[in-house]
Amino acid sequence: MTDIKLLKTTEKRYQVLETMNITSLEDVLNHYPYRYDIIEETYPNDEDDKIIIEATIISPTKIFFKGKMSRMSFMVEDHYLHQYQVTIFNRHFLRQYLKMSTTMTIIGRCQNDKITATDIKIKPLSELYGIHPIYSIKEGMTQKAFQQYVKKAFQHLKGQIISYVPEEYIIKHQLIHKESALYNIHFPETQNDIKQALRYLKYEEFLKFQLTMQFIKQQRNQETGIAKSFDTMKLQDFILALPYQLTKDQQTSIKEIIEDLKSSQMMYRFLQGDVGSGKTVVSSVALYANYLAGYQGALMAPTEILAAQHYATLCDFFKATDVKIALLTGSLSMKEKNQLYEEISHHEIDIVVGTHALFQKKVEYASLGFVITDEQHRFGVEQRKALKNKGKQVDFLIMSATPIPRTLAISMYGDMDVSTIKTMPVGRKPVITKYIKSSSMKPILKQLKDYLAIGGQCYVICPLVEDSEAIEAKSASQIAAAMQNYFKNQYQVGLLHGQMKDEEKEKIMQAFQKNEIQILVSTTVVEVGVDVKNANMMVIYNAERFGMSQLHQLRGRVGRGSQQAYCYLMSSSTSKEAIERLKYMEKSHDGFEISMYDLQMRGPGEVLGNKQSGLPTFLVADVLKDFPILSVAREDAMKIIDDYLHQGGYLHFMNQIKESLKENNQYVD
Ligand code: ADP
Ligand code: MG
Repeated sequence: MTDIKLLKTTEKRYQVLETMNITSLEDVLNHYPYRYDIIEETYPNDEDDKIIIEATIISPTKIFFKGKMSRMSFMVEDHYLHQYQVTIFNRHFLRQYLKMSTTMTIIGRCQNDKITATDIKIKPLSELYGIHPIYSIKEGMTQKAFQQYVKKAFQHLKGQIISYVPEEYIIKHQLIHKESALYNIHFPETQNDIKQALRYLKYEEFLKFQLTMQFIKQQRNQETGIAKSFDTMKLQDFILALPYQLTKDQQTSIKEIIEDLKSSQMMYRFLQGDVGSGKTVVSSVALYANYLAGYQGALMAPTEILAAQHYATLCDFFKATDVKIALLTGSLSMKEKNQLYEEISHHEIDIVVGTHALFQKKVEYASLGFVITDEQHRFGVEQRKALKNKGKQVDFLIMSATPIPRTLAISMYGDMDVSTIKTMPVGRKPVITKYIKSSSMKPILKQLKDYLAIGGQCYVICPLVEDSEAIEAKSASQIAAAMQNYFKNQYQVGLLHGQMKDEEKEKIMQAFQKNEIQILVSTTVVEVGVDVKNANMMVIYNAERFGMSQLHQLRGRVGRGSQQAYCYLMSSSTSKEAIERLKYMEKSHDGFEISMYDLQMRGPGEVLGNKQSGLPTFLVADVLKDFPILSVAREDAMKIIDDYLHQGGYLHFMNQIKESLKENNQYVD
């Protein structure tokens, strides 16, 4: 990294640069323009009234003031001797330059020879002509200053910028080199310059990502796992004793997971399926196989509620077996915890279900062989490290209910194997979903009353408040109080939010499950996992604030049995886009479709969650739009790694990857 001080600018500017995450000359060059202004002579046409012309003033300037606001107008003539009236607002400081016969460039909109200028430059067009990069900058920085920094950074680093992409692949794909790509992205002369620059930069980003993923995978494959062996007849009996026939995709997923368990390579598998597709039963079969092989298993859920739910489900599945299951959560008393720790360390417990409490220091497993995490996109490095200390060569399975097409999943989770459940259990009725243009319950109160009258239960989901659990909790409490008041002596209303103690949450959930509560008012803490078959109506306040995959998840809480379920998406938003999204939810019931639509609208970071997913944010590349490049980069990465492994090629290159992984704390020895 080259010292940023070489820019020789002011202390204040260095500080601004730092807030832009720019602390070296390389960072300056990696801060690409987010768009370009293209300045060339432009006349209005049928579609666009944009105008850019060079013209000369032919009349005195008239100026009007209204408070601090001003409006100036004057006549100009262009080189075709055509005359225009020009108006510009709030630029009275330009007046001193606007003398008769001054030549200038006018940028604006034009109708009937009347121009409303957005900008006037007292320069001939020839001096402005070209493509001008526009950077995203913070307060205290100007476009001009930043452009200067880019120039300076380039002068210093010229000749030292090495293409990350190996030469063979530059030739193969006819790419330009990195130095040219960086130059062209900052100082393009033609549109084609930008295109060529992007081709290199996108490919490089994807190749780097894919190489890193493949490298992590290859490292893992080198560690031999434990080839687990067990009595397949017993496993078969277990599957036959399940309360229902498994779907085809459930069977396939189980087969893939069992193969991994048997193999001497460590499992690192991603199991994705739509909400309600039945991932839990797949995980129980896998846990049983691991048990039969003589190992302990752990199932980790993101919330206490979900952990408790899984625990109950597993107890049910395993009731005819000798498997000993325990629930380990933060809300246990110290004494209970210590007791459990004892039992786990003596293998008196076979399967532990819990939250991240499962991997705290004090928990020592006698022989942990298999870990499953639910509703997580990736297993974070920290968690992986914590786990390493719990057992050697542990197999991992990660479950997610934001499914994406298999090809995309393979490319994005490059270091994992992917199993996908697409088929839904038979007899599932799609949840009837309605967008209600309202900010209150009024329009659906009758439906709600009728539904409660026939013995149903209902979820009411409160508005999402960005970054404020406290405000969220308050709004949930208010809604709950209002509803309890309305239904007093008739129905019980329960309240669930993130600021409540775990035991309280647990109590409320149990009361809802037992139908002691008929209306559960909740923030998104019910988002994942809970399963109450008698609750088949859901009302969501301010639905426009939720992501589509999230709405789909929420909606997946109802319609878990054979009854027809309803979901009302309330929103008073007038945004066309928001309404379009909610209407899409009325039509689509396919989690794959919805996540793709969501990905296109909001990008992978938002939908799949960058923090948990560990997915990189690509600077220029777009996972969806540039998917063909991503696929090519993936194939190339596999060839490069293969060559490295078998012919010792790319040694220097691979060492570089290893170093950068270590630097980013992603390398698990
Ligand atoms: P998710 O994939 O969202 O975690 P669950 O595992 O909670 O889904 O399953 C959703 C519901 O479907 C549960 O009530 C479960 O008992 C039921 N289920 C799962 N598999 C089947 C199947 N093959 N046939 C019928 N019902 C099933
Ligand atoms: Mg689930």
